Amino acid sequence: MDTNTLILGAGFGGLELASRLSDALGPDAGVTLIDQNEGFVFGFSKFELMFGRATLDEVMHRYAELVKPGVAFRRERILSIDPAARRVVTDRETYEAQTLVVALGAEYDPGATPGFVEGGHEFYSVPGAIALHDVLLGFEGGAVVIGVLGQPFKCPPAPCEAAMLLEEWLTKRGQRERSSVTLVHPWGTPVPPSPDGSVAIRQRFEERGITFLGDRTITHIDPAAKTVHIADGSTVPYDLFLGIPIHRVPAVVVESGLAEDGWIPVDKTNLATRFPGVYALGDVTSAPVPKAGVFAESAARALASYLIDQAKQTADFRPFDGSGSCYVEFGGGLVGRVDADFLTGPQPRGPFVAPSEELAREKAGFATTRDRRWFRA
Ligand SMILES: Cc1cc2nc3c(=O)[nH]c(=O)nc-3n(C[C@H](O)[C@H](O)[C@H](O)COP(=O)(O)OP(=O)(O)OC[C@H]3O[C@@H](n4cnc5c(N)ncnc54)[C@H](O)[C@@H]3O)c2cc1C
Repeated sequence: MDTNTLILGAGFGGLELASRLSDALGPDAGVTLIDQNEGFVFGFSKFELMFGRATLDEVMHRYAELVKPGVAFRRERILSIDPAARRVVTDRETYEAQTLVVALGAEYDPGATPGFVEGGHEFYSVPGAIALHDVLLGFEGGAVVIGVLGQPFKCPPAPCEAAMLLEEWLTKRGQRERSSVTLVHPWGTPVPPSPDGSVAIRQRFEERGITFLGDRTITHIDPAAKTVHIADGSTVPYDLFLGIPIHRVPAVVVESGLAEDGWIPVDKTNLATRFPGVYALGDVTSAPVPKAGVFAESAARALASYLIDQAKQTADFRPFDGSGSCYVEFGGGLVGRVDADFLTGPQPRGPFVAPSEELAREKAGFATTRDRRWFRA
């Protein structure tokens, strides 16, 4: 099948790009959007699933409801990508595209950390977060250790959020006194580009008795001894271990030859790969921004302006600015915000807005506005 613009992956980046092309070009947009899943789930909704605050049904935005003019959604599994020919084979169809955009995100490799599959749990995937809820319901207190198992990893504040929300969960269930919460982290500070955000998180940790073990590289988990092993030879005992698994690109991207050193290199202004007519955005790339939805979204914004210029013969291209506002859940219904900017200044910047209930409402609105923009005509 011949198509104008073929977008692989209907996550944060793919949905933002498809909706912008649709809004600018209307029924003539000629976009085909492919994803293997039934619907989109925001990364932060994994906390809702993990703590049983919502069901999967309540947090899923179904692709069947996507009615953007000029966008055809196809639920298919991508089996191979030939970037030189811009040819993509799925479990149903073979596509040839004028413009090919790879937005397939990052996958997890729990087996890459010895002992983790046998001795720990994860909340970074939807099935993992759902399964963890049952584990938490059965947990009767003890040493909870959250460990970041590799870099890069999605949403840098998320492990800290997990620690604060877990501490709150244990308190509400009357298990706090017989429990401890420890975060083992490869960085010396929670959110390096945001010194103020890092101070606020560390303050909250101190208030709530959460231990931050920074600058620690986890080598393996010993499920029999129930210990987390650090590269410096030290160990941390646990009763419940939650790991942020090692991330990697999907196998289909590795096999395509698009990735180098693990991720797809792109021109940081317009997201072009080294193959003509082939672009990549979001977590699947090595663009110099953290792996988070808001940066996939700002990359999609830049690429959309580039492609719309080509289609309409205009000159409105706005290069990728690496900007995005990341919400941070502090527990107690309070949410803070880091307004990150990675590419417009000499250094990444991340001014911090203190946690408040108002920002919690703003975060809820963030999901609603995306649902409207991405799915409705
Ligand atoms: C716990 C947690 C909290 C988070 N909180 C935030 C937050 O507050 N703010 C924020 O901005 N980000 C947050 N994130 C990160 C955010 O979810 C991701 O960075 C973002 O989704 C990346 O967007 P993307 O478009 O690159 O990829 P994704 O959104 O991951 O989309 C990739 C899509 O490709 C599809 N796909 C992959 N392989 C195939 C295949 N072979 N065939 C068909 N389809 C395929 C997948 O099904 C998926 O839908 C969080 C993540 C986690 C885990």
